[in-house]
Amino acid sequence: MGVLVVGSVALDSIETPFGSAKNALGGSATYIAAAASYFTAPIRLVGVVGGDFPKSGMEFLESRGIDLDGLEVVKEGKTFHWAGKYHYDLNNRDTLATHLNVFEKFNPKIPEKYKKSRYVCLGNIDPVLQRRVLEQIDKPRLVICDTMNFWIEGKNAELKKTLELIDVIVLNDSEARLLSREPNLIKAARVIRAMGPNIVIIKKGEHGAMLITEQTIFTAPAYPMENIFDPTGAGDTFAGGFVGWLGKTDDFSEENLKRAVIYGSAMASFCVEKFSVEGLADLTYLQVQDRFRAFRELSRFDGD
Ligand code: AMP
Repeated sequence: MGVLVVGSVALDSIETPFGSAKNALGGSATYIAAAASYFTAPIRLVGVVGGDFPKSGMEFLESRGIDLDGLEVVKEGKTFHWAGKYHYDLNNRDTLATHLNVFEKFNPKIPEKYKKSRYVCLGNIDPVLQRRVLEQIDKPRLVICDTMNFWIEGKNAELKKTLELIDVIVLNDSEARLLSREPNLIKAARVIRAMGPNIVIIKKGEHGAMLITEQTIFTAPAYPMENIFDPTGAGDTFAGGFVGWLGKTDDFSEENLKRAVIYGSAMASFCVEKFSVEGLADLTYLQVQDRFRAFRELSRFDGD
């Protein structure tokens, strides 16, 4: 079947109250593909990096079995770079720099063998590029899209055109409010559904995630963690776990969508436990399932 992932492959400079790092492996596609790779195969990546992209970055992606034929290397260019600083509560962050670099001239070319992918996950990149990818795919079964304030504010009209083509949107609470211009998240989800996506998932950081479809509102907790090391990539990892589970099961029932939200949340909890992509480097599927079960216990109570 296959999941096609498009997005940034990045070098991130991150500051948290507890430490900092320069040029760590990151990017929306990196996190999505790594998380999805725990559930299904093949995972196909479409993106671009510069000549400065480290060998260790390629090795990480290869170690997860990700098909990199769609990852273009522009030798003379520089890899996308993002810098962010987290506040004391780790739920809020400031973007200090977004250097698009090789993304500025990127024109995604989808390898022939990727064109029949049934699942497409459009990671956070320019909505124009997201659309260009979709135009090259033969009728995917499900298209999931992530975005962020950078594009909601900077390319609003283009983003709205992309939203008309997608099935599921994943975004965080402040982005949902920004996109819908509606402070209440339930109403915001309704406004966003009217823009195109049938399914809206709103992530609320350490307060979990909400799935909104025509019939359902489902809320999932976040895994309570004492040690959050680096929240970068949690949202993308959530999307990767979500699409990975759907790719594995090929079942869009409401109950299975809820399971996908919990698998997404479980993967995100592994992501934030370590720095950069380290939390997604060598988990076992048993660990993933154990955390899935731990989620069930989190909100189970005796109703009698
Ligand atoms: P998340 O914490 O899930 O929102 O994702 C963080 C990742 O998104 C980082 O690794 C960044 O490299 C990447 N990122 C940040 N801003 C952008 C942007 N404007 N376009 C594409 N990727 C971005």
